Amino acid sequence: MTRHGKRSLRIAHLYPELLNLYGDSGNILVLRKRLEWRGIIPEVVEVHVDDRPSFADVDLVFIGGGSDREQKIVCDKLLAERAELKAFVEDGGALAAVCGGYQLLGESYLMGDEKVPGLSLVDLYTDRGDPRLISNIVVESRICEQPIVGYENHGGRTHLGPDVEPLGKVVYGHGNDGVSGFEGCLYHNVVGTYVHGPLFPKNPGVVDYLIARAMERKYGIDELEPLDDAVELSANKAMYDRLMAGEVEE
Ligand code: GLN
Repeated sequence: MTRHGKRSLRIAHLYPELLNLYGDSGNILVLRKRLEWRGIIPEVVEVHVDDRPSFADVDLVFIGGGSDREQKIVCDKLLAERAELKAFVEDGGALAAVCGGYQLLGESYLMGDEKVPGLSLVDLYTDRGDPRLISNIVVESRICEQPIVGYENHGGRTHLGPDVEPLGKVVYGHGNDGVSGFEGCLYHNVVGTYVHGPLFPKNPGVVDYLIARAMERKYGIDELEPLDDAVELSANKAMYDRLMAGEVEE
């Protein structure tokens, strides 16, 4: 039995049929595998639009990206769960949100001229700009050693409140708003980001940060058994090197 054996994490994957841009469901596969490789049992619960989920026994929440239309459907449903989700976040629950999911964490976002209320879980809001911010992206973050690499495509510009830390600094691409030089957000154990790709396969450090936060909250364990990440890290490095060398046409 491994050090973490017989332990389990319960993962709530919100609205997989709607929030699944650019392979965001691949994040769940990676999460599942990195738990299994350590002998931690992954219990993945898919939450669908007409479900009334409880977050009381959930350890990690994942929200993927979606188009404006899908975001709106999801948000109307999710607002009913706001109190539970807020309690989860304030209690240190681990939550990862990508692009459309990231925008939903905030106070509001703009859909055309319509201001759509968000979940207000994190002090941020999203308005719009022209053109869309479409690019490969590299971010340096304190949560992992390797740069975070991926792809972004968003019309929204996200603005962080004064007490919200960005996930990191943009070293290639646009990030939150294309001008601040920052990308994503960190708040308690919430990671919000515009990085698709999907995010987790080439960025094992980000996955492990979230797993460690969830293991710490549930079992008081924050040191994870190391895995052989040679393949993941070579993919990360190949992308980083090509982008930084200016070899990729955007
Ligand atoms: N609809 C949002 C925007 O364009 C998010 C898109 C996405 O998840 N890629 O800003």
